[in-house]
Amino acid sequence: MTLIPLRDGDWPDPPASPEATPFVAAAKEGRFLLRRCTACGKAHWYPRSLCPFCLGETAWEEASGEGTIYSYTVLTREDPPRAIAYVTLAEGPTLLTSLVDCEAGGLAVGQPVRLVFAASKNGTPVPCFRPVGNLSGAPPGAP
Ligand SMILES: [Zn+2]
Repeated sequence: MTLIPLRDGDWPDPPASPEATPFVAAAKEGRFLLRRCTACGKAHWYPRSLCPFCLGETAWEEASGEGTIYSYTVLTREDPPRAIAYVTLAEGPTLLTSLVDCEAGGLAVGQPVRLVFAASKNGTPVPCFRPVGNLSGAPPGAP
């Protein structure tokens, strides 16, 4: 059994940028924001002021924090190990992230996951995901 923990304070600090300020402020309140195009209606990741599909204007919206594992790999040489993954959000975008608070052998493509924020070295929230029904015993859908 190989546990992949949530590692607060062990993440590099994301670069500060004016575009990311609303995202970081919401994340510090536990809310996960995406941007959605007001012209074509598609959500995207990472947040941009212009739509990557049609160059339309975009607006912030609060995302559900729910998604599924599109692909993943476990870095077993790390101690403790890490799991890097692409997670497809319920809103559509796929993001490169980390899976935390999980069992390395219990991961699967298509598995439902839920957002959890880990803290970077300076305390900036970093979006990570953990399987629904995780090892901490939280029921499916619990924050
Ligand atoms: Zn668009």
